[in-house]
Amino acid sequence: MNSIESAFNLLSEHFHRDVAILQLRELTTWQTGGPAVCVTVTSAAMLADLLGLTAGEGIPWFILGLGSNVLAGDEGCREVIIRLSGAMAETVWHRSGNSWDLKIGGGVHLPSLSGAACSRGASGLTFAIGIPGTVGGAVFMNAGAYGNSIADSLKSVTVLDYEGSASIIPGEECCFAYRSSRFQKERTIITGATMSLESGDPAVLRTEGKRILELRRKKFPLQHPNAGSVFRKPDEGISPGKLIEDAGLKGKTVGGAKVSCKHANFIINTGKATSDDIAELIDIVREAVLATSGILLEEEIRYLGRRELNDVG
Ligand SMILES: Cc1cc2nc3c(=O)[nH]c(=O)nc-3n(C[C@H](O)[C@H](O)[C@H](O)COP(=O)(O)OP(=O)(O)OC[C@H]3O[C@@H](n4cnc5c(N)ncnc54)[C@H](O)[C@@H]3O)c2cc1C
Repeated sequence: MNSIESAFNLLSEHFHRDVAILQLRELTTWQTGGPAVCVTVTSAAMLADLLGLTAGEGIPWFILGLGSNVLAGDEGCREVIIRLSGAMAETVWHRSGNSWDLKIGGGVHLPSLSGAACSRGASGLTFAIGIPGTVGGAVFMNAGAYGNSIADSLKSVTVLDYEGSASIIPGEECCFAYRSSRFQKERTIITGATMSLESGDPAVLRTEGKRILELRRKKFPLQHPNAGSVFRKPDEGISPGKLIEDAGLKGKTVGGAKVSCKHANFIINTGKATSDDIAELIDIVREAVLATSGILLEEEIRYLGRRELNDVG
């Protein structure tokens, strides 16, 4: 019996139908990656049980949101994939005076939260309307756009550690910086967050949301599977897209992976890309940009299964 089957059998005894063997290509926006055992977690108590069991049995895990920033191995992964759903993906809204207080589950779909905030007249999340992740993934990455980031409105983050103990971390202790947070250095699961949003005019916010979505449709190659920006903006402040374009790599392909002609910091899956194709293209881009500009680009995307470069799981 291989490690996937034995993990599946063990976890199924405890969590029954919430455990399945799925293809990572179905769980990631690049639509690549092989098999993995997945547990869909629907409550904090279930998550604590699962973490207790995995710690006791020495089973590695990886918490996955919408997989919009992840390159998953073609051979799958030995980590058990944890996904938050049900009560872990709910938002409680409370109006207090001229602002809104939100209690948000880590599995909440970020674009839907942003859209709901616009409709209710709660400002501060409109920037996130086109960022296709979960709140947990966005907090982990400190996702942002147009000069805003998720950190701006956060009051606190609730996490469970690898043994299932919960703690609440105030926003100012989350060490947020450009596409980074303390959670990238810790083995914790972000189960929820609290936020405070100022009141705004729903009509104005909705119009702004539509404008942002239109802008993104024009700028990004959204008709092909992708994972957003592959590389982080380097300390030199030059956009990776410009550096990649200047290195003459727009349209460069490896197998089914291609540097987008529309936005060079996006690598698209033209249909039959493997994760190995994408990873090889990432290496080619990094080396070509280093050769032409002297700047070493670092990935913003996270690896699962294939490389251990920036995995926390
Ligand atoms: C078309 C497109 C456009 C994008 N545009 C933007 C943009 O404008 N700005 C931007 O910042 N990003 C952008 N992204 C990248 C991505 O959407 C964000 O990084 C997003 O926040 C990732 O969320 P996720 O739930 O998909 O996380 P995943 O991709 O599933 O995971 C990313 C990392 O977060 C960790 N993680 C996920 N959930 C949790 C949790 N609950 N607790 C702890 N760790 C967790 C994972 O382990 C992994 O290491 C874009 C991606 C795409 C495909």
